[in-house]
Amino acid sequence: MPRKIAAGNWKMNGVGAALSEIDALIAAHPTPVSRIVICPPATLIHRMAARAQGSALAIGGQTCHTASKGAHTGDISATMLAEAGATHVILGHSERRADHGETDAQINAQAQAALAAGLTVILCIGETEAERDADVTLAVVETQLAHSVPEGVTAANLVIAYEPVWAIGTGRVPTTDQIAEVHAAIRTHLVTRFGEQGHEISVLYGGSVKPDNAAQIFAVPDVNGALVGGASLKAADFGGIITALDAA
Ligand code: PEP
Repeated sequence: MPRKIAAGNWKMNGVGAALSEIDALIAAHPTPVSRIVICPPATLIHRMAARAQGSALAIGGQTCHTASKGAHTGDISATMLAEAGATHVILGHSERRADHGETDAQINAQAQAALAAGLTVILCIGETEAERDADVTLAVVETQLAHSVPEGVTAANLVIAYEPVWAIGTGRVPTTDQIAEVHAAIRTHLVTRFGEQGHEISVLYGGSVKPDNAAQIFAVPDVNGALVGGASLKAADFGGIITALDAA
């Protein structure tokens, strides 16, 4: 069975004062069944990792460069993330694809850099609203998987997050049938490409997951958890999602 994972993407939110949310989260969920990951802004990784030491909480970055060091002003490498205390990194988020023009080929190279640094990659894929309307969702997701997921990954170092772009931060969520259809296609791709490991790789759903819709989403076949944006910022909200996942 794939590991159940609740991952929080804080995006460009949170300064030092937000660390109290981490203390509250750890206190409320000392021994969760699920893997819990928070991906804060890079400025908080080191402090959050220190805070989370000895707890069940893992820390992740939100992107990384393809190189481990060099003349890349403003960028951060996977080596730096790992040194700061991260064990995971989100790659290919639709906001990175849209704001920074990241391509599948670049995401693939970032993933290779992350794996070389010992990080677990949470790799995001998902269709835009126009692509869903044009009925090409499965083709889009298949292409993203084929080009952005590197060879040689295992269930220990890769997590896939299916995030329909139109569901992120909008309060709109696909139907459970729509989620099931895409997750089944993702699982087929992973098994075809990675054999037994493909059965074990966690596949998360992301896009407007909240405490009140989490249980319904986690009941969908092949949904092994969630990548959560807005509702991961507050321990009480994220805690509700963790509780739902633990019980699923
Ligand atoms: C995200 O940005 O990865 C996300 C899922 O955001 P939200 O939960 O706010 O829709």
